[in-house]
Amino acid sequence: MRVRSDDSFAQDPVLRTTPSTCCYCGVGCGVIIESADGRITGVHGDAAHPANFGRLCSKGNSLHKSATESVLTQARLLQPMHRASRGSEPEPLSWGEALDLAADRFAETVRRHGSDSVGFYVSGQFLTEDYYVFNKLAKGLLQTNNIDSNSRLCMSSAVAGYKLTLGADAPPPCYDDIAMAATLFLVGANTAFAHPVLFRRIEDAKRANPRLRIVVVDPRRTDTAEIADLFLPIAPGTDVVLFHGMLHVLLWEGLVDSAFIARCTTGFDALKERVREFPPRDAAQLCGISEADLVRAAHWFAQGPTLSLYCQGLNQSADGTAKNAALINLHLATGQIGKPGAGPLSLTGQPNAMGGREVGAMANLASAHRDLGKVADRTEIARLWGVDSVPSQTGLTAVEMFEAAAAGTIKALWIACTNPAQSLPEQKLVRRALERVQFVVLQEAFAATATAHYADLLLPASTWGEKEGTVTNSERRISRVRAAVPAPGEARADWRIGVNFAHRLEERLRPGKPSLFRYDTPEEIWNEHRESTRGRDLDITGLSYSFLETHGPQQWPFPDGAIAGSARLYANGIFPTPDGRARFADVGYKPSAEPRDARYPFSLLTGRLRDQWHGMSRTGTIPQLFGHAPEPAIEMHPGDMERLGLADGDLVRVRSRRGELLIQARASEQISRTHTFLPMHWGEEFLGGAEGVNTLTLRQFCPQSKQPELKHAAVDIERAHLPWRLVAMAWLPERALQAQQQLRVSMREFPFAVCVPFGTDRTGVLFRAAALQPAAASVLAQIENVLNLDSVDALRYADARRGRTRTVRVCEDRMQGFLLGGEIDSEPWMREWLLQQAPVRGLGAQLLQPGAVAPGVVALRSRQVCSCFDVSESSIRETLAQTEGTAAQRLASLQGTLRCGTNCGSCVPELQRLVRRSMADA
Ligand code: SF4
Repeated sequence: MRVRSDDSFAQDPVLRTTPSTCCYCGVGCGVIIESADGRITGVHGDAAHPANFGRLCSKGNSLHKSATESVLTQARLLQPMHRASRGSEPEPLSWGEALDLAADRFAETVRRHGSDSVGFYVSGQFLTEDYYVFNKLAKGLLQTNNIDSNSRLCMSSAVAGYKLTLGADAPPPCYDDIAMAATLFLVGANTAFAHPVLFRRIEDAKRANPRLRIVVVDPRRTDTAEIADLFLPIAPGTDVVLFHGMLHVLLWEGLVDSAFIARCTTGFDALKERVREFPPRDAAQLCGISEADLVRAAHWFAQGPTLSLYCQGLNQSADGTAKNAALINLHLATGQIGKPGAGPLSLTGQPNAMGGREVGAMANLASAHRDLGKVADRTEIARLWGVDSVPSQTGLTAVEMFEAAAAGTIKALWIACTNPAQSLPEQKLVRRALERVQFVVLQEAFAATATAHYADLLLPASTWGEKEGTVTNSERRISRVRAAVPAPGEARADWRIGVNFAHRLEERLRPGKPSLFRYDTPEEIWNEHRESTRGRDLDITGLSYSFLETHGPQQWPFPDGAIAGSARLYANGIFPTPDGRARFADVGYKPSAEPRDARYPFSLLTGRLRDQWHGMSRTGTIPQLFGHAPEPAIEMHPGDMERLGLADGDLVRVRSRRGELLIQARASEQISRTHTFLPMHWGEEFLGGAEGVNTLTLRQFCPQSKQPELKHAAVDIERAHLPWRLVAMAWLPERALQAQQQLRVSMREFPFAVCVPFGTDRTGVLFRAAALQPAAASVLAQIENVLNLDSVDALRYADARRGRTRTVRVCEDRMQGFLLGGEIDSEPWMREWLLQQAPVRGLGAQLLQPGAVAPGVVALRSRQVCSCFDVSESSIRETLAQTEGTAAQRLASLQGTLRCGTNCGSCVPELQRLVRRSMADA
């Protein structure tokens, strides 16, 4: 299906450029979308955007590749679909029919079971306008607070930490503070991977000021740790101990800011008593670091200005609020807040988690930072919305909503722009919930997410490059998001879907009354949201769409009459609490919710890959983004692998109390003994045999923030004995995404299966599997069919008795694909022949020979490091072996020779690591 041609976008044959915002992480980079003839053709960084000044990371740089005609036709949901019964194939229906059906089912459910029998699970992918409509729909029209966002999994502990200590959900510093700090304190944040463009600013700051002290706190020695002057590899979950231990040192040595404490805070005496229990020696021992390092961290923290940057390492914890608050305690105790270069700055995981918080579109929040528990606040919201009241009782948060669904109390569930069947913890429960809910609506841009399988009604949503609205990034900066092209097929903007649904619900639930949703444009919605902020701490009444367009992105607060937003908050030492003072939080230490024990002796840590984002519904459509981490793998300490008799690529069974999965193991020097690392991204769409990585994680959540402990679980690991192996690869330009979807059926035939795309200029699909017994001939035939390996010109060898099968397809002297079953030792050279498209020079049947020795000459390449220029680790090592000079000179020489790290810069930390290693080896 081509994009609509009835839109003005599509009639423009010349190249258009449209300023917008990246839709991935909370750095909120500005992008310039290039389009022509109604199609997105390219993207580059917006040099005028204050978040990135023209830079983009590998993900942002490839955004346009998720909007090609090929992706639109293969991966997008293009029309409303309905399943007559669970498990059946969905059938198309019109928008009118779809919305009537949804309205009938929701209205009927509310009539029969009450307002709280329905729930909305929305997304940090929503624009602020989308959030506003759905929040009003749930709380105003349907009178339920059962609306929560997937940003519950990401930022709610940061929110609770800010509110507990500073009185409002408002990150005080800004990105410019990175360049002004004397100490950067990075805690539980692999910024090099998760917020790469911000990491570029950290690198810049270090280059400009070599005396800048960088402390990195993380159980893993991540690429971020490579830049650290002091790296603290604390035991998982001991952050509060570290912070209290540091405060103990500061108190003992008189390094606190007593004047600030006396003038601007309350509660310090209780905290002082608390931290008595954390002398540095004991604290360091509990954290697993040296006492000297803990003391040095405390000294550096006090010698500000000190800026803390933190993320999921603190947030995704059953004690996340305490961790956030204990860090903010350090800032308050040293007066490191409200001044240039200082303060606690939580890094937002999603592009618009902050916008959702501003709008109050979560179960325990209310519009514009109001308090659901306060009558006056609720009355104000009801007046703004034109309803009699809004419900007072906190709604169900993300995990609670799915628990309630599994228990049968949520009967209709509306899921928008998120993939809970991949991203929520304890997937077995989530799947039970999705099966039990009587009516599931999925509003999505992508057709084949794991959640789509459970939807009764699928509604096609427009997405990046097609939507209009606003987002707010980690530093409170509001940017416009603009549409460059029309939405494909029948996809509609999320806010419009919400409004269309609301109108139909109003006909059923409040007939004859004026509509609460009289919006024709996102700007009208935003203007209503803007009015709701009047007089609040996030007041944006001085802004407008046109101001944002003419003056660029702005930070809040920006009240009526202001000429600029506020770069940083609390410079006057007055905080948004009843007495104007910040509050020290007297929080205790709680160990991880699930400590290691004899049965589950490994700590499973989760986190991000450099080139993937969340559940991969978008990045997973771009084969180039698989070059750096081509297949799912669990990383382990080399010593633990040796002890278990494992080599790189061996299959292991990872088992937690909730589920298990099979995955390849890979040795990593970044991992401590007894720790393992599993990227959060791999769902059943790419890794078969289970429900993805979150089959292992646990749903215990922080009592204040309700954010689950996704970061850590106790697991056992053992070698998996599945002797029969299969690997198949084939070029499938224009058909790879469709092939992956077709191969899901084949993945279910194996206890272990992986299906991922590969390629740079062309696209192919890799299918890998393992089993106890050889696969049935019908299963092999199906895989060959999908991978185009069943043509008559394919070369074949089969030994049914030994369960061996080999197929190679060559076309015009180039290998097009292969399948190896039973014995796969020849995979490395077969793969290279395929990837490099080297001529096979009449090798013919010799390509069917087994074993690791190739029948001809083909160079074996290693893992890709630079995805922009497709530079492998082996070429980098070879080049470095010929390079001399300082680390900086060697890096420059490497970049001059191979160009790696000269475009987006995402691979620079890894290049620096390889430089250092080559110098050590020299
Ligand atoms: Fe997008 Fe990368 Fe910028 Fe994040 S750092 S907003 S993913 S370009």
